[in-house]
Amino acid sequence: MRYVLDHDFHVHTQLSPCSSNPEQNPTRILQYAKENNLKTVITTDHYWDERVPCSTKPYGINNETIHKWGPYPQEDGIRMLIGAEADIDFNGILGINRRTCEDFDFILISATHMHMDGFTCRGDETVEERIAMYIRRLEIILNADIPHKKIGFSHPVTPLICYHEQVLDGIPESEFRRLFGRAAELGLGVEINLSSMRDSDDFDDYTQVTPQTHPAMFRPYRIAKEMGCKFFFGSDSHSPSDFLFLKPMAEVLIDQLELKESDKFILS
Ligand SMILES: [Zn+2]
Ligand SMILES: [Zn+2]
Repeated sequence: MRYVLDHDFHVHTQLSPCSSNPEQNPTRILQYAKENNLKTVITTDHYWDERVPCSTKPYGINNETIHKWGPYPQEDGIRMLIGAEADIDFNGILGINRRTCEDFDFILISATHMHMDGFTCRGDETVEERIAMYIRRLEIILNADIPHKKIGFSHPVTPLICYHEQVLDGIPESEFRRLFGRAAELGLGVEINLSSMRDSDDFDDYTQVTPQTHPAMFRPYRIAKEMGCKFFFGSDSHSPSDFLFLKPMAEVLIDQLELKESDKFILS
């Protein structure tokens, strides 16, 4: 059976420092879920658990702020959950731990935020250094003492890597196989991030990113699928205009990646 798009596991609210749109609030997000027949929608604001000392300058909101919305509005047939998008600092410290995970239904962790100078990187790293960073940061997620079945690896391919196509092309097949094989064993979900698979904010642009035009973007997904990883979709919306991309773009990617319902990451 073909993969059914029934969720969005990556939505920022206006609490994220990079989303100031007042419309990006729980009521509007619930309406979005309803309009798109989504069964599960998860808010994932940028977050650093302040109980974990950061060795650089963290980006994201703290515990008090991320729970500010209080209980989410509920609607029959729609699960709206509170999650977070956590990070790893320049020295390899993960901004969450096992205790943090008890406060959330789901947590995204990014190995690929390599654009946050002074927090996750210096900013002047070469392609070779970024290849090593990608591998090291993903290993930190895989080796962490956290409940991997409620963890998602956010945007494994994204321009945020910087020189991303060269970096992704530079990671050997054997390394991807080893890392994604381990992810599959642990039950960690792999995100198909719609924002990262667009070249621009032009609505028509999403059909231009194909396995033929952007092989570097599709190779990691092919390998992850071969290794048995499970996938979820994330719009990475920062404002309601981003909601428009979800359905049409996800449907194209489901076909391009030949995703079946059995490839879906299920959050229990
Ligand atoms: Zn991100
Ligand atoms: Zn995000």
